[in-house]
Amino acid sequence: MDMTSKRFIQALQDHNLDEIKRVPKSDLHNHFVLGGDRKFIKEKTGIDINPYKGIMCSMDEMHKWVEVNMGEKFNCLEMRQLLVDATIIQAAKDGIHILEIGEDVWGLDEYFQSNIKMLIDSFKQSQMKYGEQIELRLQIGMSRHCSIKYLEKCLEPFWDEKSFYSIDLYGDEKYQPIENFKGIYQKARSQGLKLKAHVGEWGSASDVRTAIEILELDEVQHGISAVKSKEVIKYLRENKIRLNITPTSNVVLGRVENFKKHPIGELYNSGIDVTINSDDILIFDSDVSKEYLRLYESGVLSADDLDDIRRNGLR
Ligand SMILES: [Zn+2]
Repeated sequence: MDMTSKRFIQALQDHNLDEIKRVPKSDLHNHFVLGGDRKFIKEKTGIDINPYKGIMCSMDEMHKWVEVNMGEKFNCLEMRQLLVDATIIQAAKDGIHILEIGEDVWGLDEYFQSNIKMLIDSFKQSQMKYGEQIELRLQIGMSRHCSIKYLEKCLEPFWDEKSFYSIDLYGDEKYQPIENFKGIYQKARSQGLKLKAHVGEWGSASDVRTAIEILELDEVQHGISAVKSKEVIKYLRENKIRLNITPTSNVVLGRVENFKKHPIGELYNSGIDVTINSDDILIFDSDVSKEYLRLYESGVLSADDLDDIRRNGLR
């Protein structure tokens, strides 16, 4: 075992969050708008954003939280840049060495004057300024709530830009059939992008499998419902589909009853490629180090298993 693993395991056993933060980790499921460092945002803007306390019953409740806490306050280029900076600063403090984040496709016109180079530079320069050690994997983000025609139009400037690493789809899983996105994902595949989508958070195990088959996904954001089907578990294992899991978010959004009952242990022990991630730090108080410690303290995974998952995420 290498020294870093030893340090990480010891830090978990000592419940030493500061030391956990110092060990390299990845964050492959992070929505940068809500991924920022609270202190930095407060210092720069005076805006105090506190995490949600309690359990939410729906995505609508989450959207209400965003409306109240973020509202229109960040809807300009300067403030969008501040949120990018805040996310890089947060990730650096959290010991993140691989960070996968990106802008929503509509943000290009809305905040970056329809200038794709400006959008890309915004993320890259922030990474160079605040997170030298971080490998930035730039993602293209899409919402299920947009029409396909609109998304296709928004996506045009993104295609052929070699700076992007992956594409992701989020929003209400039931909003429109997953088949609708097939054409976009085929195009993304031809561009060499890693294909990801949010599925199996509110949807079922079979929704996870269907999305993977139709969109030819490499990775799934969440995918925790897969635990309810032995067949889908086997399918994920055999096809080496990675699940980028966000435990605190799952608990706060009522997807999992509590930490002790989180299915990540069962999914990991079934041989599925899982990683541990933050989702929306400002809402859920969920930096990656805290996620590792909470999973350890709840007894869902051993310190050795958590280190194995940590190293897997860095591969
Ligand atoms: Zn997410």
